[in-house]
This record gives sequence, C-alpha cells and structure tokens, in this order.
Amino acid sequence: MSVPGQPVPTSSAGCVNVFWHEGMLSHDAGHGVFDTGMDPGFLDVLEKHPENSDRVKNMVSILKRGPISPYISWHSGTPAHIPDLLSFHSQGYIDALVEADRNGGKELCAGTFLNPGSLAAALLAAGTTLSAMKYILDGHGKLAYALVRPPGHHAQPTQADGYCFINNAGLAVQLALDSGCKKAVVIDIDVHYGNGTAEGFYRSDKVLTISLHMTHGTWGPSNPQNGTVDELGEGEGFGYNLNIPLPNGTGDKGYEYAMIELVVPAVKKFEPDMMVLVIGQDSSAFDPNGRQCLTMDGYREIGRIVRSLADKHSSGRLLIVQEGGYHVTYSAYCLHATLEGVLNLALPLLPDPIAYYPEDEAFAVKVVESIKKYQRSTIPFLKED
Ligand SMILES: [Zn+2]
Repeated sequence: MSVPGQPVPTSSAGCVNVFWHEGMLSHDAGHGVFDTGMDPGFLDVLEKHPENSDRVKNMVSILKRGPISPYISWHSGTPAHIPDLLSFHSQGYIDALVEADRNGGKELCAGTFLNPGSLAAALLAAGTTLSAMKYILDGHGKLAYALVRPPGHHAQPTQADGYCFINNAGLAVQLALDSGCKKAVVIDIDVHYGNGTAEGFYRSDKVLTISLHMTHGTWGPSNPQNGTVDELGEGEGFGYNLNIPLPNGTGDKGYEYAMIELVVPAVKKFEPDMMVLVIGQDSSAFDPNGRQCLTMDGYREIGRIVRSLADKHSSGRLLIVQEGGYHVTYSAYCLHATLEGVLNLALPLLPDPIAYYPEDEAFAVKVVESIKKYQRSTIPFLKED
C-alpha cells in the first residue's frame, strides 16, 4: 500500500530488514550527573544516563513514521541463551554477569550499570543481532539492521566496558565465520574505538576490524586499549586491526576522505565475503558524548560508500549493528540518513533540522594522509604491489 506523499520503494533500492524487540527498553542505567549515576546533592535537576531508552524509542519511531518507513521491513528479535555468548565471551565473565544480575545489580565499571532488567535486555540485544545475521546467512535478505541496546562494541571477551555488557556485533561476526563465511570486515563509525570487537578478533586474520573514532585514548582499567594506529593486531592477526583516530572536530568531508582513502582500499585488498557496519550517532556534531562533527549528510555518504563496498565484495550482504548515539532526537535523524545512504536513494528523504558546521577539513586530511603512509609501510597486506 502506498501512502500519499511518501516515496514508493523501487526494486533497485530494496529494503532494510530491521530487527527489534521492545524488551530492550527494560535496561535502565539510572540518573545522575551525565553517566556517573551520582547525585552530588547540589543540583536540582539530574539527567537520565545518556544510554537511555528514549534515544532508541526515537530510532524506532523515525523508522516507523519517517519518510523511510516504506523501505523498512520489521522483524521481532529473540533473546540469546547463555551458551550462545561463549563464542565470543569467556565462561568466567558470563558467570560474573549472571551472578551480578542475581544479586540485584552492580556498577561493573565506570558508568556501566547492570541493574534489574539489564541482563534480560542485553540477552535480547545479543539474540536480536544474531537473528539479523542469521537472516542474511540463510539468504532471506541482504540488508539487515539490528536496532539494539544496551550497546556492545566496548565489551571485551572478559570485561564489560563503556555501557556495554555483551558484544553483539562480535557474536554476529563469529556466527558468520562458524556458518562458512571465510572473511568478514567490521567498519565501526561510533565516535569511540570499538575496542571490544577489536580485542575479540585481535589474533585473527579472518576478521578485518576497522574503527574510525575521535582521539580519546584509554578511559580507565576497563578500557586498556588506546585506539592508536599502532594497535594493529597480533600473531596471525597482525595488520587486521586498522585504527583511524580522527582529530576532534572532524566533520562530513574529513570522514568521507578517511573512508575513501583508508577504508575502501583496505576492504578491496581484504576481499571479505561478509560486511558489518557498526554505527553510533555519537559522531554527530551535537552529541554530548562525542567531539566529532558529522551531520546527516556525512552519515548518508558513509552509508552509500559502505553499501557500494558490500555490493562489490560481499554480494550485497551487509549487517548493520546499533551502538552509541546520545542526542535524543538528532541520533534518530542521523540513523534515518545512514539508512537512506545504505539504500542508495537518489535524493535525501529527510532534511537536516539543525546542522550547521563550517568545516575545515585540512587537519583531518593531513592526519588521514599520515595514517595512510604509516599503514602502507607497516602492514603486509596493504603494501603497494
Ligand atoms: Zn560511542
């Protein structure tokens, strides 16, 4: 059925299969001064923890009622079972999560609160992401988006970190490998380093993890990785973790330059048969938790580039996994734009309500050029022929 005033899907655009379950709203990380969970006693108004259910409610509603809605096909997520988690996480770590849940909750590390209902939501996020990957692997569709929370990309095999308990994307990548995929690439555009996913595949040459993030360094004992260019992987995995720390303030043009100069050539040489795009709208110009300056235009362009990589290398198979993004309204708009790009729609469906950023990309370009030089002189599979 077509709705007056809304675009009708064309066969070339296809549709995005969105996997979602409202049970993920049951994780509540509380109130405080931003993500501290702390009331200092002298503020009249505290705020919700930035990783709250409102942000995701808006992502759901914009895909249901925004102009992209005719291109969305909805699927219900299901919870993962504890044994499903052991393909990425250690038994000891999962036992500790279950124990913390049984005891009524715990702050597992700075800002990362496992409260009553959190583990159930995390199991739903993991299972929903696995369902989305399985949908692609079973050949039911090529584009799937796991709209999940709590996020996962900081969760390491043995450690919770940065609002994350279970590494949703990591589990999905491992499922792809276990199901016969030979090589997977993960492109992570959340504003923070995807350290958990990187750590999980750090010694593997089957998974190329690429992370574009702001230069933030480590933030504590739960986050021992720095996200610097020299964290390249180890053993057989040497060269298969590419960190692209972009200078704070990088905007649409800087990100596009990094994608074209660093990401596209690496993916081309790696030749993956599965693509995973890990998205966080905390790289936007208005995010309270990030210092980058992407707007809807930038997200749209990244979506377009990743879609063309998937069409070239993985027969169009692309799983998108939701991570951070803390501006309660603009994150939803940036998600909408990313999916417009992934669908390769000719015109923007939705105008940007707030973006204005006079971007000077010169510094970002300089940094990208120096990363390129470093990678091509250090990483065997990227060396010029
Ligand atoms: Zn983030």
